[in-house]
Amino acid sequence: MNIKRIAAAISCSLMTVVAHAAVLPATQTDSQWFKDSAANVVAKAQVDTKKTAKNVILFVGDGMSISTLTAARILQGQDKADNQGGEENFLSFEQFPHTALVKTYNTNQQTPDSAGTMTAMATGVKTKAGIISISDTSLRGNCLSSKGNELVSLVDLANAKGLSTGIVTTARLTHATPAATYAKTPERDWEGDFNLPAEAVANGCTDIASQLVMRDEANSLTVALGGGRSYFLPTTVKDGENKAGKRKDGKDLTKAWVDNFSKSAYVWDKKGFDAIDAANTDHLLGLFNPSHMEYEADRADDVGGEPSLTEMTAKSLDILKKNDKGYLLIVESGRIDHGHHAGNASRALTDAVELSNAVKAAMDATSSDDTLIMVTADHSHVFTIAGYPKRGNPILGLVHNVDGTLATANDNKPYTTLAYTNGPGAVVGVRDDLTSVDTQDKDFMQQALIPMESETHAGEDISLHARGPGSNLVQGVIEQNVIFHIINQAQQLGGTKY
Ligand SMILES: [Zn+2]
Repeated sequence: MNIKRIAAAISCSLMTVVAHAAVLPATQTDSQWFKDSAANVVAKAQVDTKKTAKNVILFVGDGMSISTLTAARILQGQDKADNQGGEENFLSFEQFPHTALVKTYNTNQQTPDSAGTMTAMATGVKTKAGIISISDTSLRGNCLSSKGNELVSLVDLANAKGLSTGIVTTARLTHATPAATYAKTPERDWEGDFNLPAEAVANGCTDIASQLVMRDEANSLTVALGGGRSYFLPTTVKDGENKAGKRKDGKDLTKAWVDNFSKSAYVWDKKGFDAIDAANTDHLLGLFNPSHMEYEADRADDVGGEPSLTEMTAKSLDILKKNDKGYLLIVESGRIDHGHHAGNASRALTDAVELSNAVKAAMDATSSDDTLIMVTADHSHVFTIAGYPKRGNPILGLVHNVDGTLATANDNKPYTTLAYTNGPGAVVGVRDDLTSVDTQDKDFMQQALIPMESETHAGEDISLHARGPGSNLVQGVIEQNVIFHIINQAQQLGGTKY
């Protein structure tokens, strides 16, 4: 919309207001709430989105429910010196101009898992839980049934177009979410050769780690950074932290990566990562932990030292942007999910804040004229923000009423704002009295209702936030597999017969 039309629209609506005698009082229009939100809407009305994106960056917060966004936004806000309570804060991507709600179910599960959800985003097709970029006609864990049902992913399409491609995660690179972008297997747990049952070997299915490395150079990943080192090293080789690999086929896939590709490098610690010169590196594999990388809250304690999600994102972009044709980068914050499964909101939220930081780094390193940035989750968690805490009440704290008194439940005991419907923090019998417990400690486990060893995913919608060319396609309530089609359309990947 051009400026004249916006001005005409605004003056027209003002006239209508006057004509109908509803003049807003100064207590309303002079309020900062009114002014800020009016400016926000006018700015949004002026966004003129171009259709084609040279580059696409898709951020996925694993298990990043909408309640996680709200709590992480408050946590980050309360850390700011000049905060007014914290609730007024926005995570970096929460100010993107376009937002949609996303339906996450798998073809066989009302509440999904990460394999099926990331397959939807990566291939444009929903599938069963546990299956990685294989169609729904396959059976989970059955190699023979997967043959001929392999799906083409965004990474395959981007590579075919000559774009550079990158995968970054804080989970194992072989874990379900990152795997769905580059691997095809009927079983998410086939991460290493030692996980393959006889039926899989007999019918020619290969493990996820080898699928990442053993690719043609033309269809190789440009950058792959994350955890999961032990799935790439054989039992006969010890890593930089003196821990042996787990592979039983004797293959050192880190060496294969360096041998297979031109101008390639493998790094396993922060020092090696920092020393990588993007100008001279065209293929970078980084495996910073034998299993998942550390939570952001624990990263400083890691033996070998690990880069942050922000640092991995920035380094990836330095390498990817060398390609004049453009790039596709998929970044997963993999451990928000793990913090929630452990009933441990502190670690989940700290990782969500770090995802916001990584998105900010991507925003700073790119232009909204040619780069589509999308931020979403794969599924929700049973994580709640409850009670009537006063404004500015510490988000990890006990609920305090507006008059400052401690709020209590029917058992006359205090309770935290954050809790879970189920999980390891469940109360069996009499509820603990939290009066003298430090609920803001990073190891504190929030109380829950239904006792379960691991807190579960939840089935309600998650959100999608977007800026840049093609972001206008992000609107309404959509199926999760539409995300593939938005990227395919925006980046002209040619993956459909429109
Ligand atoms: Zn999970």
